[in-house]
Amino acid sequence: MYVTLTILFLILLLLFVFYGWGLIIRRSGQRDDESGEKCSLCRQRFPLESLVEREIGDYKLLHFCTGCIDELSRDAKNLPTHNYQ
Ligand SMILES: [Zn+2]
Repeated sequence: MYVTLTILFLILLLLFVFYGWGLIIRRSGQRDDESGEKCSLCRQRFPLESLVEREIGDYKLLHFCTGCIDELSRDAKNLPTHNYQ
């Protein structure tokens, strides 16, 4: 009788350990997904410190990745009306 109870207890304990482990893994995965910010142009997620931040109006905050800024810069230099060095 005690052996059966002990085995049941051990199985329950193992289940709880695996359940808790799964929760921890899921939570840390979510944290990775939510870290950083999406680029406002290409919608890819980057760490916040690698993005340029601009406030538009009173409330809207836009982030731009360096790839998109390079592309914008290239496009701006190709404009027929540009007159900067
Ligand atoms: Zn981008």
